[in-house]
Amino acid sequence: MRFSILGAGAMGSLFGGLLAEAGHAVQLIDTNSAHVSAVQRQGLSLTTSDHGTRQISSVDACLPEEAVAARTFAECLIVFTKTVDSRAALAAVRPIIGPDTFGLSLQNGLGNLETLHSFFTQDRCLIGVTSWPAELIEPGSVRSQGTGSIELQVATHGHTHSSVAESVASSFNDAGLRCAPVDDLWTTLWEKLAFNAALNSVCAATGSPVGRLGLVPNAIALTHHIVKEVCSVAAASGVAVNEMRCLSKISAAIADHPTVIPSTLQDLLAHRPTEIGSINGAVVAEAEKYGVPVPCTKTVLTMVQLIEQRQQAVATP
Ligand code: NAD
Repeated sequence: MRFSILGAGAMGSLFGGLLAEAGHAVQLIDTNSAHVSAVQRQGLSLTTSDHGTRQISSVDACLPEEAVAARTFAECLIVFTKTVDSRAALAAVRPIIGPDTFGLSLQNGLGNLETLHSFFTQDRCLIGVTSWPAELIEPGSVRSQGTGSIELQVATHGHTHSSVAESVASSFNDAGLRCAPVDDLWTTLWEKLAFNAALNSVCAATGSPVGRLGLVPNAIALTHHIVKEVCSVAAASGVAVNEMRCLSKISAAIADHPTVIPSTLQDLLAHRPTEIGSINGAVVAEAEKYGVPVPCTKTVLTMVQLIEQRQQAVATP
């Protein structure tokens, strides 16, 4: 299959590297010119837990304007920017979204399917949830420590079974990405949302690595309140989620990964916009639709937004 990956940072480069290694045609598209030139010069350096470090030269990399100038239509375009950048990124490469191009988002948070609907016809929008971890070490070099999997929605609106989703899933499995096609992604998506809304936001608002929350009983209680709020919103929107499973994932993260800095805090530390709007922000918006109270989710959202606002004000005097 021919994949274009829009946003080839940590996750985009991991997926692109593994797909290229499995023999698929891969074009990485990113605005980070240092990363793009490093991959063009020496290939992509990929480190995974199972196969160590290797250099993958069969992957193309280019800037968005170069992708547009080359006019090669992607068969499947995977959006792997941060969610705040999705719309601008898709708008910039609109000329390479052909009538037959499928758009796939594996990003965190809510609202990604709606974003795809603005750029691809409804029956050509695919979403999934992934638990693969990845980090960009330096330009041209990506690492994934641990393993993960993907759930990919194969039934589009109206439950039309999508054979393209099946082919994408099969390409991911060729690449060892462990993809399961599913008919109903929403439980998995909301459970991941509950986890991120609780851990990412509390760590970001307080500048804490995950393990520090375990030292303060009130902090653990706060994450549990947020999980319960998100689960109530999911239930109100008709999605059955398992609250106990979400709570035990929080406990496991605090116990087993104490030094992890969640991505929202990483973004704040690097003075980048965060994905809080599509995580806690999206939960609050859904809660308002259904009249579900979410005071903890909203309070921590506001705290992170205030930190972002202060950073923006300093950056633009
Ligand atoms: P990242 O910041 O490493 O990569 C995003 C890339 O998008 C960057 O390289 C950036 O230069 C690029 N970009 C920004 N604007 C662009 C534009 N207009 N056009 C093209 N490229 C543009 O982020 P990531 O960690 O790879 O995360 C991507 C998504 O995957 C997020 O939604 C994240 O929540 C989700 N996710 C991440 C992980 C992880 O372990 N990193 C795990 C699961 C899900």
